[in-house]
Amino acid sequence: MTVENKVVVITGASSGIGAATAKKLAKNGAKVVLGARREEKLKEIVEEIGENASYQVTDVTNRDDVAKLINVAKEEYGRVDVLYNNAGIMPQGNLADRDYDKWQTMLNINIMGVLNGIGEVLPIMQRQKDGLIISTDSVAGHVVYPASAVYNGTKYAVRAIMEGLRQEEKDHGIRSTIVSPGAVKTELVNSIGNEAVVNGLKPIFDAPEDSGMTLSADDIANAVLYAINQPEHVAISEILIRPSRQQ
Ligand code: NDP
Repeated sequence: MTVENKVVVITGASSGIGAATAKKLAKNGAKVVLGARREEKLKEIVEEIGENASYQVTDVTNRDDVAKLINVAKEEYGRVDVLYNNAGIMPQGNLADRDYDKWQTMLNINIMGVLNGIGEVLPIMQRQKDGLIISTDSVAGHVVYPASAVYNGTKYAVRAIMEGLRQEEKDHGIRSTIVSPGAVKTELVNSIGNEAVVNGLKPIFDAPEDSGMTLSADDIANAVLYAINQPEHVAISEILIRPSRQQ
């Protein structure tokens, strides 16, 4: 399997890792379908990619939206080879803050968003007897950080769900890959919503790309490309990528 001519649906494709991955995969011959909420951003990226890219405005917490997104791939290209569940947010704060709304929003996007993607694409991939589902997890799905219990919880959950998916579907031609980045310079920092945490992370996110303190979105796109480019008997279960100097 190589990425050439593969039909790839990507959520969270309007910025950061999702946008960089869409561009990289398209450059390598994939047909990409981008989903996120900000239409202007999606439009810009699709125009930049040119041929073989389309978008659908999608809120991953809404099952109908996710079904429509996947349907664009079906209608335009007749199949879905890869679903990349990448949309996510990272609000931070202590549990004692009791910020129920923030917690619920994060659970809905980071966990239900992934489940909505899996739920909508699985019947298609089961009929095809072929497919790859990738989800962006995080180093935060392996280690718990201060003021980050709920975000970490969502990423531990995604890892568990993806491992369950692997076990259930491995004999049906459906593979799954978890991509777990460390710190990546993206707009994710805008979703933190906690001044103390933002200030604490500033040295990391403001560090130059060659400092070993952060990764670029393109570094993660390379990992996704690698996972897709494997022959069918190879399943890349997880890729854990840290900037070289991250704890
Ligand atoms: P960005 O903020 O740049 O990208 C997040 C993407 O998710 C955007 O395209 C945003 O688009 C989309 N998104 C957010 N909420 C929704 C929603 N309800 N429905 C659809 N799309 C949504 O950050 P990153 O690229 O860094 O984040 C991508 C993933 O990487 C996330 O899952 C994040 O947890 C994970 N990650 C990031 C790390 C980092 O250090 N940056 C480290 C480890 C993991 P829009 O607002 O247009 O909907």
